[in-house]
This record gives sequence, structure tokens and C-alpha cells, in this order.
Amino acid sequence: MVSFEEARTIILENVCAVGTERVSLLEAAGRIVADDLTAPWDLPLWNNSAMDGYAVRSADQGDGVHRLTVTGVINAGSRGEGLTVGPGCAVRIMTGAPTPAGCDAVVPVEETDNGTQVVLVQAPVKPGQHIRVRGEDVTAGTLFLRKGTRIRPPEINMLAGFGMALVPVYRRPTVAILSTGDELVELGQTPGAGEIINSNTLSLAASVTECGAIPRIIGIARDNRESHLEKLREGLRADVLITSAGVSAGDCDLVRDVLAELGTTQLFWKVGIKPGGPLAVALHGTTPVFSLPGNPVSTMMTFEEFVRPALLRMQGEQQVLRPLFPVVMQESLSKKPGKVQIVRLRLERQGGRWYGRSAGNQQTAILKTMLDAQAVALLPAENSGVAVGDEVMAHFYGNYIERE
Ligand code: AMP
Ligand code: MG
Repeated sequence: MVSFEEARTIILENVCAVGTERVSLLEAAGRIVADDLTAPWDLPLWNNSAMDGYAVRSADQGDGVHRLTVTGVINAGSRGEGLTVGPGCAVRIMTGAPTPAGCDAVVPVEETDNGTQVVLVQAPVKPGQHIRVRGEDVTAGTLFLRKGTRIRPPEINMLAGFGMALVPVYRRPTVAILSTGDELVELGQTPGAGEIINSNTLSLAASVTECGAIPRIIGIARDNRESHLEKLREGLRADVLITSAGVSAGDCDLVRDVLAELGTTQLFWKVGIKPGGPLAVALHGTTPVFSLPGNPVSTMMTFEEFVRPALLRMQGEQQVLRPLFPVVMQESLSKKPGKVQIVRLRLERQGGRWYGRSAGNQQTAILKTMLDAQAVALLPAENSGVAVGDEVMAHFYGNYIERE
């Protein structure tokens, strides 16, 4: 058995990015940049007006309110070619239009009488005011997007501003999902006596998608060697293989043996956590194989704590663990020392602190408590129980949503 921390370390040491590709800008949304990107040109590319108003020479203001002769108009999109602001003159200009030669300030229309032939400037003019200077946002050659950054709408906007239609990003790993067990029937069938619906495959596929990877549903391996051989072989063609169930010490738990027969090397089996203890992780060449315990709560918790970080790392993400924060418990929790306990919590924010209570029955077989959990606390192995007022460390489970 390895500890929770050892298991994570071993996993993250044994996975690496699956490769890179160039995708269109819209496809790049939510992906991670695979290269340092530098600005091909200045942003903005030319000086332009930040306001609708008049391009002027600030030296013309003398002691204050003054009149200027309007010698032209520059709208956004026009080049303002040949227009120069001479002494005593102004050019009417719109936001985003290039500022003409000779001017050193823009007076907003609100600070004038809006004149067309002659304009009355009614407010003081500071040199440089309301002019966006070439390169003030980003200068050519500057590193504007660091390798490993996740692409959000602001990154898309700047990439588009630089004309970058194709973006180098890390590839999304394909993740084979295989459930095992003779008791399983697929969604759409009505479970008979002794049968349950293969729900793990569906929640795992959703979790994989949520991590940005691509699920490939392999189906069900029955509890015999031949079926396991066939389905595991198929699953090993993906970048990652996740199996559910058949990894404990039961008579029908064949996953580890058949994986070994197929040439995988086990990195560990059994972790000091509850729920999720029977987790096994192996490598087939460089393909990681996560064999998750079959109980839906254990399947989802081991995915969250061990598979999710690996899938993020395989897509070039640096920050693969959800941040932990302190939660003051409003209820006591019983625990035996020895294993890390994963406790499903409901949270409340009061006076800048998080307060927590158990999200419900914490037994592994109770799925409903997962639906009610907003966060999970990780109680250290040596912890021997939590009293009211004790602080525990927790992380959100998905996005925190305030709801009854
Ligand atoms: P096992 O690891 O095969 O002993 O399974 C542990 C528990 O998880 C049993 O109660 C199974 O019925 C349940 N289980 C196994 N596979 C699935 C699955 N694909 N979907 C939902 N529950 C499952
Ligand atoms: Mg089974």
C-alpha cells in the first residue's frame, strides 16, 4: 500500500504531455498553449484617438477657453492621409481613428461646443490626453502568452488581434473507459434481479470531457479472462485507459492480472485512502492505466484526486491540483488514524471564512451525498477525528454553487 501523497507523486512522475498540434483559434478556447508566443507587431499598431472629439495641439490653449479652425474629419477606418493639425487648427476625429500628424492631444466632444467649422474648446488640454500610443498595450517582440497558459476569451482576443489564426496547443488525450462486471447492463436496458446499470462509464466519460480530454467508451468486460483480454487490449490503444471495478480482492477481480498478462507494469496497488483504497495504477509503455474501484463514489473520488491531475498534466497544465483552503467544521467527524479520509462537505461563507458540515451519510455506498457535496475535505492519515470548531483542509468539488 502507498500513501495518498506517494500515489499522487508516482502518477505525476509517470505521465507527460501527449503531444502538440496547431488548431484554429476557436478550437483553441480552453486549451493550453504549447509554445511561448511573442507579439508580431505593436498593439496598437498606430497612434489613435481614445475619444470622439477633436485632434488638437495642446500649445494652442493659451490661458484656457479657445477657438480652433476645424480643417478636416477622420472617422474610424479612414487613414487620415495628408491631414495635419496646424497651429490654431483642429481635426474632428472618432474613437479608434488614427491621430493626424501635428496633434498631441484629443479633446472629447463633450468638452467643446461640437462645432463643425470652428470649435470652442471649453476645458484645459493636457499634452498626450486621449491618445492611445502605438505599442502602449504590447510592443512587438514581447512575450505575450507563456507556454502552459490556458486560453480564455482574453487570450483569444489578443491572438486574433495579432492575426494568429492557428495556435499551437497541447493535444487532448484520448481516454478509453472500460467497466467490468457480470452484473452490469447498459443504459436503456432495465436491470433485472442482481443487475445494475453501468453508470460509472457515463460519469467517467463526463469527468474526462470536463478535464478537456476525449472519452472513448469501450463498454463492459465480463468477469472472465477472455472478455477482459479483448476489452483491455482495445482500451490500451487510447492515450489513457481507465477501468472501473474488478480491482479489489474478490474472486472475479481480474483486471490487474489480465493487465499484467498484456504487458503492463504496475506502479502501485492500494492507496491509504477511504473511500477508494483498491486503486491500481500501471503503465503500458507510456500509456497510463488507472484501475478504479467500482463503487460509484470510489470511482468518482479516485478520478477526482488521481486521474484528473494526470489528465491535466498530459495536456500541459502546470497547476493540476485544486487549491486547498481551510474550513471550520460545524460538526464533528469520526475517523480512525491510518488512512487519508475524503469527506464530502457542504459549505457556508461567513465573515470571510468557510464553515463546513458533512454533506450527508459518508458511507461509500451512498451516492446521494456526492450530489450534495460542494467540497471535499482531505483528513490526513494521522488524524483521529474532528471536533466542532476544528479546521480541516478542503477543495471544491467542481464549481462551488450556492444552492439549498
Ligand atoms: P467490484 O469492484 O467489482 O467489487 O464492484 C464494487 C461495487 O461497485 C459493486 O457494488 C458493483 O456492483 C459496483 N459497480 C461496479 N461497476 C459498476 C459500474 N460500472 N457502474 C455502477 N456501479 C458499479
Ligand atoms: Mg465486479
